[in-house]
Amino acid sequence: MWTNWAGNQRTDTPLACPTSIADLQKEIAQPQSLRILGAGHSFTPIVAGGDRILDLSGLDLPILGAAEQDRVWVNANARLRDLSPALADKRLAFRNLGDINTQSLAGAASTATHGTGRDLPCLAAEITAARMIGASGDILTTDDIPLEMAQVSMGMLGVLTEAQISVVSKYNLRRQVGLASVEETLATMHQKWAENRNFEFFYIPFTGKTVELRHAITDAAESKAPRDLDMIAVKVLKLARSAGRISAGLRRALLKMLTMAQSNEDYVGESWRVLCSDRHIPFKEMEYHLPPEVAGDVLQEVLTRLHRDHKDVYFPIEVRQTAGDTACLSPFQGGPRISVAIHTDAAEDHKRYFEAIEPLFVEAGGRPHWGKMHNLSYKDLSLMYPDFDRFCALREQLDPQGKFLTPALARLFQP
Ligand SMILES: Cc1cc2nc3c(=O)[nH]c(=O)nc-3n(C[C@H](O)[C@H](O)[C@H](O)COP(=O)(O)OP(=O)(O)OC[C@H]3O[C@@H](n4cnc5c(N)ncnc54)[C@H](O)[C@@H]3O)c2cc1C
Repeated sequence: MWTNWAGNQRTDTPLACPTSIADLQKEIAQPQSLRILGAGHSFTPIVAGGDRILDLSGLDLPILGAAEQDRVWVNANARLRDLSPALADKRLAFRNLGDINTQSLAGAASTATHGTGRDLPCLAAEITAARMIGASGDILTTDDIPLEMAQVSMGMLGVLTEAQISVVSKYNLRRQVGLASVEETLATMHQKWAENRNFEFFYIPFTGKTVELRHAITDAAESKAPRDLDMIAVKVLKLARSAGRISAGLRRALLKMLTMAQSNEDYVGESWRVLCSDRHIPFKEMEYHLPPEVAGDVLQEVLTRLHRDHKDVYFPIEVRQTAGDTACLSPFQGGPRISVAIHTDAAEDHKRYFEAIEPLFVEAGGRPHWGKMHNLSYKDLSLMYPDFDRFCALREQLDPQGKFLTPALARLFQP
């Protein structure tokens, strides 16, 4: 039985694990449909649902290939956590990364995984060329498939085997973390995105407080990594939620203690070690990418509804910004977006909360993260992306038998 990280996607379909390109081509030549697995960190049904799942973690390709100036060919199915140290050995680094680095590059890029930074694009936009195996079994490159189609494609145009990515010289980051009132954060967030290389914040439910994080490139000496207290903080938030069922005052007192215990943090380390951390407590997530000018108002309304109607929620709300790019299915296509992510405990019902908040995101012109939960269909999505129908037509042309298609994907990519 295969399950994704959150445990909300499961399937009994067999796993195929090719170790060479020839084996992979043989797998693709089989008549049954197949879906490609990265690290299984998506919450949406974009890996399960076919007759087979392809696990490419054992594909015999070098982790790094040819390099020229600021571009390096890499094994597209390597995990980000293995690519970063391999790049660092060559004094290179990813320009930016998200909260974790467990994903494969292909899996992360295919859903437009992002970090934060007003001028920093998502991972898919760093792909400058790619090699894939198409539904016919042929080797395709970005000379055959337009790059802007291949960058974010959720395994529907073919199987990515190698990618050329744009990288930067290895760098260290200084991370500063501090507590603020939500009013202050909302009033200053645009300025903070303009002033900081990376800026993001988490709203801690029912406290009126945010934890703000900023990162800057530095030459300062590396310091000792602080203890990762995120897991303890989430456990205290859950405890406070349970206490609140007995007494609202008790919840308030516990939350006050938690915010008082939040110490300011100042840490210098290698970029990928500073940007990424581990997530030990499983959750479910919905994230929409909003036009920056409306994000503040939407967030205010999300907080109003959270406080009024969803007292059981204890996971923080995460807010980030990503630069625009040109990939046809990138939610950041056409300009920067502010991403607002809401979460629930993986074992708890998310529906009431997510369904109450999603219309706010959609009405404000938001686009969903492809790997995170949403309830949209072809009709909604085709209105959100100027090149959506061009992508769907190319998918149909490259995979007329629907080898990489499932009923869940057909609901999104077929009229
Ligand atoms: C704890 C946690 C933290 C997260 N943090 C962030 C974050 O900070 N920022 C963010 O944007 N997202 C984040 N996500 C979401 C996550 O980055 C995306 O869902 C991402 O797609 C997962 O990558 P994966 O390698 O697990 O891919 P999977 O979920 O396994 O697959 C994703 C898609 O890629 C396709 N795919 C995989 N390999 C290939 C290939 N070789 N060729 C073609 N298609 C392929 C799959 O078929 C699927 O459609 C987080 C998720 C979790 C669970």
